[in-house]
Amino acid sequence: ITNEIYCIGCGAKLQTTDPTAAGYLPAATLAKADPEGEIYCQRCFRLRHYNEIADVELTDDDFLRLLNAIGESNALIVNVVDIFDFNGSVIPGLHRFVGNNPVILVGNKADVLPSSLNRKKLTSWLTQQAHAQGLRPVETILTSAKKGTAVDDLLATIEKYREHRDVFVVGVTNTGKSTLINRVIKQLTGVSDLITTSRFPGTTLDRIEIPLDDGQSLIDTPGIIHRHQMAHFLGAKDLQLVSPTKVIRPKVYQLNPGQTLFLAGLARFDFIQGQKSGFTVYADNQLLIHRTKLENADAFYAKHRGDILNPPRPEEVADFPDLARFEFTPKQKSDLVFAGLGWITVPAGQTVAGYAPKGVDVLIRPALV
Ligand code: GDP
Repeated sequence: ITNEIYCIGCGAKLQTTDPTAAGYLPAATLAKADPEGEIYCQRCFRLRHYNEIADVELTDDDFLRLLNAIGESNALIVNVVDIFDFNGSVIPGLHRFVGNNPVILVGNKADVLPSSLNRKKLTSWLTQQAHAQGLRPVETILTSAKKGTAVDDLLATIEKYREHRDVFVVGVTNTGKSTLINRVIKQLTGVSDLITTSRFPGTTLDRIEIPLDDGQSLIDTPGIIHRHQMAHFLGAKDLQLVSPTKVIRPKVYQLNPGQTLFLAGLARFDFIQGQKSGFTVYADNQLLIHRTKLENADAFYAKHRGDILNPPRPEEVADFPDLARFEFTPKQKSDLVFAGLGWITVPAGQTVAGYAPKGVDVLIRPALV
């Protein structure tokens, strides 16, 4: 019977043999547990009670198997992405795996967008980005799993395209997939908070099946760990900087050419050439922004990374990757995006450079505001 019990938090099969693998629970704890009750694996238990995390990574093989299985089923796919980090939330090659199955693209975390931001533009930008990846969603929806915004829309859209098939919800970790599924469960069944959610990337393991009324299921798949997310370079205490919880207040900086903005020690923006102009920063309200002279910026970064420019925290500096530089002169008003962290609006015709830890994307898109 023991091997038929699943963790109520992450859905992993409970096991008592390997503390480093998914679903581990000390045998003594399992023996004491009420078999009819809700049982958490040690990892989810700790997460819920102490906000601790142990690393369990599913292997790439597991993901390939999972994605192949999805491709072979006749199902509706719901792909959840983080609107702050489209590139960090894309599942590489997803379009090849989904086969002919329809995909609904969900851009989550809409609650932190300032009201000045044009939702239609963002939706069409997300759709375009998906197209660039070879993915052709039948619909793109902006949601807030946190506030419950547009969860009705999502359910209605799922019903519209489902045609009595299973629904697979896929996404990389930290996009809010678990929070969103909890919302969906609540809407469908009235039960709340069934799935562990947290700020730690990689928290959802194994699949969780939620029965739908025609005998099909809504299936939550494991969050796929994307190694190029900014979140992986931050300690637990600083993760809120890449998961803003409050509406972002844009900050405008009047800059002359030859000035630099540091976004803590995580990213950098140089205004290289052009007219004195206003540059608007969209990022978590708590993120430190430090203005300095471009000519001193390299030295300033070398000296103050870890103290004034924090995070990274002093103890994290040694392992923190170097910043990679990308230069742009956009022809139209554009956003220079630091994937996962935020963006800076750049007026047309100005030459600027963006820097982020090696591996994290820096890109340019038509301005959303
Ligand atoms: P998963 O790894 O994709 O399953 O993501 P989680 O559901 O665990 O969420 C990751 C983090 O994002 C948590 O800190 C959530 O509170 C936060 N989060 C999830 N959905 C939203 C949302 O709609 N808005 C905001 N602001 N935060 C969200």
